[in-house]
Amino acid sequence: MPVTDSETLATLHRVFGYEAFRGEQEAVIEHVVAGGDAVVLMPTGGGKSLCYQIPALVRPGTGIVVSPLIALMQDQVDALRALGVRAGFINSTQDFDERRVVEAEFLAGELDLLYLAPERLRLDTTLGLLSRGKISVFAIDEAHCVSQWGHDFRPDYLMLSVLGERWPDVPRIALTATATHATHQEITQRLNMPQARHFVASFDRPNIQYRIVPKVDPKKQLLAFLRQEHAGDAGIVYCLSRNSVERTAEFLSHNGIEAVPYHAGLDAGTRAAHQSRFLREDGLVVVATIAFGMGIDKPDVRFVAHLDLPKSVEGYYQETGRAGRDGLPSTAWMAYGLNDVVQQRKLIQSGEGDEAFRRRAAAHLDSMLALCETAQCRRGQLLAYFGQEPDPAGCGNCDTCLTPPETWDGTIAAQKVLSTVVRLQRERRQKFGAGQIIDILLGKRTGRVIQFDHDQLSVFGIGEELTEGEWRGVVRQLLAQGLLAVEGEYGTLALTDASAAVLRREREVPLRKEPKRPAASRSGSSSSASSGRGRSKAAVAELPEELLPAFEALRSWRAEQAREQGVPAYVIFHDATLREIVALWPTSVAQLGTVGGVGEKKLATYGEGVLGVLESLGGPSATGAGGPGEQDAAEEGPGPATDTDWDTEPEPDDWI
Ligand code: ADP
Ligand code: ZN
Repeated sequence: MPVTDSETLATLHRVFGYEAFRGEQEAVIEHVVAGGDAVVLMPTGGGKSLCYQIPALVRPGTGIVVSPLIALMQDQVDALRALGVRAGFINSTQDFDERRVVEAEFLAGELDLLYLAPERLRLDTTLGLLSRGKISVFAIDEAHCVSQWGHDFRPDYLMLSVLGERWPDVPRIALTATATHATHQEITQRLNMPQARHFVASFDRPNIQYRIVPKVDPKKQLLAFLRQEHAGDAGIVYCLSRNSVERTAEFLSHNGIEAVPYHAGLDAGTRAAHQSRFLREDGLVVVATIAFGMGIDKPDVRFVAHLDLPKSVEGYYQETGRAGRDGLPSTAWMAYGLNDVVQQRKLIQSGEGDEAFRRRAAAHLDSMLALCETAQCRRGQLLAYFGQEPDPAGCGNCDTCLTPPETWDGTIAAQKVLSTVVRLQRERRQKFGAGQIIDILLGKRTGRVIQFDHDQLSVFGIGEELTEGEWRGVVRQLLAQGLLAVEGEYGTLALTDASAAVLRREREVPLRKEPKRPAASRSGSSSSASSGRGRSKAAVAELPEELLPAFEALRSWRAEQAREQGVPAYVIFHDATLREIVALWPTSVAQLGTVGGVGEKKLATYGEGVLGVLESLGGPSATGAGGPGEQDAAEEGPGPATDTDWDTEPEPDDWI
């Protein structure tokens, strides 16, 4: 074995307190330590950071980390310092003196890692500074930001190709959680890394349960989901518009779930404060537009909920991937309905951009719709999208595996919808949206039906065998399958080239049955019913009942440490580490050191404190009574509200 192997492993044990490398980590690290370039594709939570942090620690000089996440640099650096790593950052949040201190540390060779925002590297002063110090490795984090077609494009990333030209002897490692082949190619090309070795990890996140439910009353559905499965948990709720972000955050707060909004319309101070609360507090919910989340490395995000359809599978996977980095059971939950399809199709048509851009956006949307409408394993579909072979037997941890949906032959229903569209167009030269078409099928004499004499059409009332909700499901699926199109500003329905075959009875239209009401949710976590509100369910999953008080005691102790030091609780120890501690119940510092996530520095800083907490509880079997439960509950926010507090404001556009 080369010397570096044992050195990297020793660093993993000593600094990070982990037993073994995960997946591709070892191969990546070995390659970069030896001076090679690497392009690393790993899902969120896969362990990308170690891939550059360990080479930076093992190779002489400072590792330069290019990251667009200025607001998170302080936390990243704090987390590293808590491990005893000499880390610093330079960005626009610092004043002149603070920056000078970091620059001096870098020049004196006193930094293992230095974080920089990409725009810094445009400045000659920064490039000049870097040439005067010694650099061990360049890490380009969130490397998909170089992709002009992607959802996070940052023009400054295009400049990063200069690093290879100026420092040909310093290895570069580009990392991203975006996995499609196209993005992969683009990163390699634009960062000018033709010699790089490529490491593509499995993109599966088995601890995340994927569920997509029909949208009926999204806010209430969300509330029920949170109350039943994620009471007291930290999570992110994504909405498309600022307005719905605000309303949803208010609604949750009003119903006893502590939630804060986050979107680009809030001033920078409020955004930073909300983000910081999310990272620091246990159990806070952030309701956000996609402006939130990149680089958030909070390990115990227990759920990610979508109230609107994401624009692409890439975006969806990145957003949901923010759940469960610690490997504990987590949920990706989405409510999706007809209106989502109509809105998104309309947006693409009326949006900016040239024809190629529109085509691409439409292709992204189609993949997203296929995921929503599939009767197959969701995880299988996701993995296949990223070019990975799914398990043909299904994953056992998504809604379609847990409760296989029924399908039915929707050919006749499809013909009825398409005929109505055809008749309006041919006989009346009119185009209407889904609402009017469905009213006609159901034979409803609404004001608009009478106004346009639509009760005179031969198709009037031919669809009474289905409910309005079911018809919306049919229209939604026809749109998703490309058998119907949305046109113009009003989202009117029109035929597509493929519709004709259905009308001529040349093809069948299998459809997914709409559940009568949203399927009862099932959680992957096996938490005990007695864990109650205010205590994270997943965090205590698999812990025997008698150890819960000790776990809670350690969490309270951790919260106190975090408050004193002004850092997020997970910077002290992750939930997973606390669980392992109570399960082992160490009685000596040496024994505590064998727990995953307890490295040398943390052992020295917190060892006595942790042992003290355990000692005060007497022992694993003596902890049943008393305990700090009350104290902890006080941290978790207001108590549950009654059901009658529900916001009953109707949202007509949000049906199904
Ligand atoms: P990414 O940047 O890929 O999203 P991180 O680097 O933040 O992922 O790692 C995700 C989580 O996994 C972190 O909590 C990290 O401490 C943990 N982790 C990473 N590598 C290992 C390992 N070899 N053993 C145990 N835990 C690990
Ligand atoms: Zn599945």
